[in-house]
Amino acid sequence: MDLFEHEARELFEKHGVPVPRGRVAEDPAAARAAAAALGGPVVVKAQVKTGGRGKAGGVRVAHSADDAEQVADDILGMSIKGHTVHRVLVTEASEIAGEYYVSFLLDRAARTFLAMASTEGGMEIEEVAASRPDALVRVPVDPLAGVDAAAVAAPFPADVRAEVAAVVEKLWEVFVAEDCTLVEVNPLASTSTGIVALDGKITLDDNASFRRSSAYDDPLAGDPLERQARANGLNYVKLDGDIGVIGNGAGLVMSSLDVVAAAAREAGARGPANFLDIGGGASAGVMADGLTVILGDPRVRSVFVNVFGGITACDAVATGIVRSLEILGSRATKPLVVRLAGNNVTAGRRILAEAAHPLVTVVATMDDAAREAAKLAIAEG
Ligand code: GDP
Ligand code: MN
Repeated sequence: MDLFEHEARELFEKHGVPVPRGRVAEDPAAARAAAAALGGPVVVKAQVKTGGRGKAGGVRVAHSADDAEQVADDILGMSIKGHTVHRVLVTEASEIAGEYYVSFLLDRAARTFLAMASTEGGMEIEEVAASRPDALVRVPVDPLAGVDAAAVAAPFPADVRAEVAAVVEKLWEVFVAEDCTLVEVNPLASTSTGIVALDGKITLDDNASFRRSSAYDDPLAGDPLERQARANGLNYVKLDGDIGVIGNGAGLVMSSLDVVAAAAREAGARGPANFLDIGGGASAGVMADGLTVILGDPRVRSVFVNVFGGITACDAVATGIVRSLEILGSRATKPLVVRLAGNNVTAGRRILAEAAHPLVTVVATMDDAAREAAKLAIAEG
């Protein structure tokens, strides 16, 4: 899970990484109060889980408390790359002498951790990596031995090198202690008061979520359907098409999205409306929860249910579909195209045929089922 900048900086502070003083504000009056308490010029920063806030006008300097209130009023409610700004961080403004880049991440290909550093911070690091690859040092990190901070700080100017190395050590401490898969500081700035993390991006390892409190769940962030799905323990990602997709197993669902996208293109439908993996044990309850989330999306006009019977055989899944339609009753409003294959497929198809639910069509192959779902989406539109 990604953290907001203000959450990242709290973890930085906890581990002794220097950050400017700051406060979070949810309305312009609170931003004014924060600026007044900090004194002097401040930076008002949109709190959204995406980069490039500066370019989008979401990071602005304010020279007085009045100014901070006005700037916060401008930034709050802004949409940055589809993320609405509900909060701002107000920090004391720093005089920047140099902008650097430091990050730790999980390098899956190399099966270890990686530290990256550059003296060309501030701008997007992808640009630096593409145009000046030698300006970005990469230092593999052995998780047992820890980081070679001197190697990471090697490209930095001599007068800040030792201080950068000390901050790098602390950032690695954050990475380990807080179970992160990414810790990124851009810019790590050289200021009159020393080296300071002026921005912070942290991704926490979801596999370690049992070790933390759920304090990071943000009721305001993300899509409401995704939140509902998460609350039901479903693996759901909202997309913007008109054909709902349910399957068991992430790989099957990914390929379902491909065939639905292709069929939709052919038929003139919009495409898949979501990713939803209901996993191995597709009980009626899980199927009903999944259908509820999918049918809660007003764009959905048809649903493709693509199930491969494995440990949970097709007859159990078919029973699950029939029962979930009973559970949903009048809330089931869109046509369902069901493709079953695998273990006990004949029994599964018989159960669906006997139930003869008016919304359900059974189609034998995945491609034909996707085409049928696309056709129904057009008919419903
Ligand atoms: P991002 O655009 O989402 O990465 O947001 P950042 O927090 O990195 O802010 C964008 C840019 O604003 C930084 O690269 C800095 O150049 C600038 N900035 C942020 N804080 C300060 C500050 O305290 N003083 C000055 N002068 N510039 C700042
Ligand atoms: Mn930044």
